[in-house]
Amino acid sequence: MIVKYNENLSTITSIGVGGKCKGIFFPETEEELVDLLKLFDGKAKYKVIGNGTNLLFSDSYHDFFAISTRKMARKMAKRKNYVILSASSSLFEAYQFCLKHNLSGFEKLATIPGNIGGSLASGASCFQTSIYDFLEKVKIFHNGEIYWKSKYNLEHGYHYSTFLKNNLENPFVILSAKFCLKEGKACSIQKEYLECSAKRKLNQPHGKSFGCVFKNKNNQSSGMLIENCGLKGKQQGDAIISEKHANFIINKGNATYQNIKFLIDTMEDNIKEKYNINLEKDVEIVE
Ligand SMILES: Cc1cc2nc3c(=O)[nH]c(=O)nc-3n(C[C@H](O)[C@H](O)[C@H](O)COP(=O)(O)OP(=O)(O)OC[C@H]3O[C@@H](n4cnc5c(N)ncnc54)[C@H](O)[C@@H]3O)c2cc1C
Repeated sequence: MIVKYNENLSTITSIGVGGKCKGIFFPETEEELVDLLKLFDGKAKYKVIGNGTNLLFSDSYHDFFAISTRKMARKMAKRKNYVILSASSSLFEAYQFCLKHNLSGFEKLATIPGNIGGSLASGASCFQTSIYDFLEKVKIFHNGEIYWKSKYNLEHGYHYSTFLKNNLENPFVILSAKFCLKEGKACSIQKEYLECSAKRKLNQPHGKSFGCVFKNKNNQSSGMLIENCGLKGKQQGDAIISEKHANFIINKGNATYQNIKFLIDTMEDNIKEKYNINLEKDVEIVE
């Protein structure tokens, strides 16, 4: 297992921002992960991180260990129309596996850059499809024990799940998950993926980001509200509100946490003043 004690959290987040923590661990198998969890659980503060695409860490020192699942071996198994996927599998890898087996479900979600663990924790959804639509149950590590929990015993909603309430002492950690998919034709599954990918390329910017800053609530596009406030292109240091999609902040190079936080606060204040709406953050901020 690789351990990095002097590395910034910026190296494991898609926005490329974040200060040091007590150490970043990269387990390579589920067994290594579980050993680590047993070592830390209840004794040291730690946070499990997937692909780091929904996280903004401040630049200051973080008093916890980070466990990144991105270098872990992917385990994927299929039986009839059920698949069991390790938490470390990306949504794109899940789609590729299912495509091979003519199973439909992940083709829209595959356009989200997260992995299974992080996406279940953040309640990922896109194109009217949620990862919870197909979930049967999750395999969890908690308080030294490993067990399966049914979807019906988990809180989840639009970009929300029970796992977002995790603390740093003994969090519920997702090890793998079982999904029930629909049988389909490979050509139409692939067509759906390509169409969703193309829509994303058309509407969303390239570059380092954490996706949308704010949730869309009550059928209202937060991006449109931000755009109506004339904030597209507003820049602070190397952070800029995207010209293509106002709900995205892009790190053009060496943006700091303060640069990004300034833009987020500006968006929030402007919307409150113009529309009297309190926006809810989509990105998870860890100060
Ligand atoms: C370009 C871009 C586009 C995006 N588009 C969308 C979109 O359309 N829809 C959408 O919903 N999101 C979108 N996102 C946000 C993000 O990709 C999703 O929320 C994604 O599902 C997060 O997965 P992750 O693996 O990166 O999670 P991370 O960011 O690594 O973690 C998110 C949370 O999950 C927790 N976590 C991670 N792994 C585990 C685990 N094994 N057990 C327990 N907790 C865990 C973390 O501690 C953290 O609290 C986008 C992001 C980007 C950069």
